[in-house]
Amino acid sequence: MYRFPCPKCSSKTTTFYESDSRWSTPYPLNVEFSCYTCGFKRIGQPAVDLAELALAGKAKYEKELERKRKAAEIERRRLAEVARERAREQKRKEEEALARLEKKRARDREYRRKLRAERAVSDECFWVECSNKAGPTSKYCSRACSNKNSRARAKARKAAKVN
Ligand SMILES: [Zn+2]
Ligand SMILES: [Zn+2]
Repeated sequence: MYRFPCPKCSSKTTTFYESDSRWSTPYPLNVEFSCYTCGFKRIGQPAVDLAELALAGKAKYEKELERKRKAAEIERRRLAEVARERAREQKRKEEEALARLEKKRARDREYRRKLRAERAVSDECFWVECSNKAGPTSKYCSRACSNKNSRARAKARKAAKVN
């Protein structure tokens, strides 16, 4: 049985009693609402009216509860989708970074391969005006020679453009 609160003191220690005895007074006169806390009491139609009012309130409350539950479910699904989207984005970024790293490794391998090929011919500094021995991981003997060579290359490119 649904215990609705007392309209006077809001206590829930109430009874809504309907006698089903055939020998008692007929409905709605056999209905009684009473509150144990404050002693509020209604008999007959006023008690029925109270119960109907309380049940309408209960229905409204349950409808609101259902609406909130549905809204929460929609929000939960939305957040789950956001999390999935983030995970996909993260995975995509990781794959991109891995691809970049792989490309860089391939470039490094190619560079070392060329270097070895050149070393097989000569281990002199790559800069034409220098005859020092090249460093262990470089085509040049020094940073200075590397810079000189790139400046010379840039100059050559510029000259080629003008002509
Ligand atoms: Zn009461
Ligand atoms: Zn050099």
